[in-house]
Amino acid sequence: MAQLNETQIENIVKQVISNLGKTEVASAPVTNEPQKQYSSAGYKGRTFVGVYADMNDAIDAANEGYKCVRNMSVEEREKIITAIRELTRAEAPIMAELGVDETGMGKVEHKIAKHILVADKTPGTEDIVSTAKTGDNGLTLIEMAPFGVVGAISPSTNPSETVICNSIGMIAAGNGVVFNPHPGAIATSNYAIDLVNRASKMAGGPEVLVASTLKPTLESANTMYAHPSIKLLVCTGGPGVVKSVLSSGKKAIGAGAGNPPVIVDDTADIVKAGKDIIDGCCFDNNLPCIAEKEVFAFANIKDRLIAEMQKNGAYLITADEANALNKIVLVEVENKKTGKKSKQVNRKCVGRDADKLLAMIGKTVSKDVRCIICETDFNHDFVQHELMMPILPIVSVRNIEEAIDLAVKAEHGNRHTAHMHSKNIDNLTNFARAVETTIFVKNAPSYAGIGFGGEGHTTFTIAGPTGEGITSARSFTRQRRCVMADSFRII
Ligand code: NAD
Repeated sequence: MAQLNETQIENIVKQVISNLGKTEVASAPVTNEPQKQYSSAGYKGRTFVGVYADMNDAIDAANEGYKCVRNMSVEEREKIITAIRELTRAEAPIMAELGVDETGMGKVEHKIAKHILVADKTPGTEDIVSTAKTGDNGLTLIEMAPFGVVGAISPSTNPSETVICNSIGMIAAGNGVVFNPHPGAIATSNYAIDLVNRASKMAGGPEVLVASTLKPTLESANTMYAHPSIKLLVCTGGPGVVKSVLSSGKKAIGAGAGNPPVIVDDTADIVKAGKDIIDGCCFDNNLPCIAEKEVFAFANIKDRLIAEMQKNGAYLITADEANALNKIVLVEVENKKTGKKSKQVNRKCVGRDADKLLAMIGKTVSKDVRCIICETDFNHDFVQHELMMPILPIVSVRNIEEAIDLAVKAEHGNRHTAHMHSKNIDNLTNFARAVETTIFVKNAPSYAGIGFGGEGHTTFTIAGPTGEGITSARSFTRQRRCVMADSFRII
């Protein structure tokens, strides 16, 4: 499949916006309207369905939804999923604007494209495949069954995208779902939960199929972990929350942090590499966990690569400017229990536009600047921390051995995502083997790894730590076996 360029993304966005008026189900887009016509409970006077003050009530509602789904045929479930896809396409601009307005992070046009991707490329019921084994002792049937009610934690970086992607997969698998959304993106997440419930009702399903809470907290997450109705936990977020679900004592799927390195060797198409890296790094202002976070470039092509990046909207800052920016985008935080200090990403800078980040160090640049680039050494904070903002450090390396060694260290053993631009198959193979990531993208922008201009289905829950990988409906199932001894074979 061909790569999507910025113009194609813009065209998709224009098409979606022009279709808005033609759909009965979509509300008007937020654009040019007074802001804050939303809360965690509703949007423009409409109260969200499936959102409860108490997490226990949300779990009970999701349990009722699960009971309905259990009694549905696969065809009926698929109808609901089709309706979710249609509503997601129609209301992508609303969710994109809500997401940017509520969190202050990311880019509306890119968030629209992410929602369309979720609608188009998240697998449905076709992903659930039964298998049979026959032999001298008869027939054994293996079916993929639902867990029951899934407790899902969703992030602030792709809030509604994750809710919709998880809902499609979990419902396709026959589960009910209750969400504990990120406190910084409750309205956007609850909008998506309401959308899934509206789709369910439209397609003849229960009024409340998925549920959530008005004020998600760590306490409500703990209620979810402990509740006997919750049979599977699925967590999409940073290291703290993934650790907490994996310590819950329940079956858990953990989709955690990444810090994807990019290697560019001297066999690469440098013009394409420069463009691809900036396109991937700037997508939704670097919020996706798969996005390029640091580059290791061969010394003999580094300057050409930087020049190509500059042609694609990258702004090169000096070492002093990088150090000034470093003091703003990372803050020292003291652990209340141990008293130990560590550097953490300043949430106020995550997902912000490049020109706004530069304004923080007193530099005024054009809005066309998409990304800040700088040359650093390997130990620089920009290389070591998952910044999730359009700042890309470039480290010069002498050869492939040094590139792989440093890139593997920068990935910090997350086993999440890595990228490489090269035409040398030995170099590509050696890096892929050494870094052991769930996603490895060759000669393309990072988003090709989640089906955006690359083959394969999409997901917004990439489960590296627990091994499900690019999650889909089948990841949310449990295997069951039925044995008919000595008969039922037809041969
Ligand atoms: P976050 O870790 O700040 O929060 C995620 C959710 O967990 C929120 O609802 C938060 O309130 C809750 N939470 C945090 N600590 C908790 C605890 N100890 N117990 C219970 N709940 C807790 O996530 P974020 O900042 O929105 O997302 C960014 C992080 O998530 C990045 O590290 C990114 O790489 C990662 N991420 C990973 C994937 C993936 O598919 N692997 C996808 C998106 C984001």
